[in-house]
Amino acid sequence: MTDKIEVFPGDEVAEEEEYLASDGTFADNGKIYASQIGILELDDNECVARVVSPNPPNILKTGDVVYAVVSDIRNTMATADVVAKDGTTRGIGNETYATIHVSKISQGYTDDVSKELRKGDFIRARVIGTKPSLQLTTKEDHLGVIRSLCGQCKTEFVKKGHGLYCPVCERSMPRKLADDYGDVKI
Ligand SMILES: [Zn+2]
Repeated sequence: MTDKIEVFPGDEVAEEEEYLASDGTFADNGKIYASQIGILELDDNECVARVVSPNPPNILKTGDVVYAVVSDIRNTMATADVVAKDGTTRGIGNETYATIHVSKISQGYTDDVSKELRKGDFIRARVIGTKPSLQLTTKEDHLGVIRSLCGQCKTEFVKKGHGLYCPVCERSMPRKLADDYGDVKI
């Protein structure tokens, strides 16, 4: 039998004589208290008291749209750190390290990752695989770089043609841009 009650941090939820503190709870001086908001579960089979969060972290799955920061550029791929899933502020439950293979960056043929993405670029991407690690694509009009700073002067690049332009350094850079580059509200 398992009872379910909503509790708040600091609520006394059980006695240590009867239960062991587990996920979301802690024991103090013979009593067990909630350490997070959630649903209390008094598990009489295992004699443990848990508090289960009603908002568990997002587990990313294939098809999800995510935001990520490009962390490195290699010969055949870019690596990125996923920071959020589109449409939610909840944390990511997966490993956030992701890869984008050169063939998955743009609709056109590309053999040079650095002409499409650069370290530090903020991108919108879609998950195309989760095992053994996250794999992303930016191969859609609405996917790609949404914000980027000039590597030399840190000014925010502006969109120019199909690429980016630094008004301070007066130089252009190729990029795989999302169709709303420069006009993104997150
Ligand atoms: Zn610049």
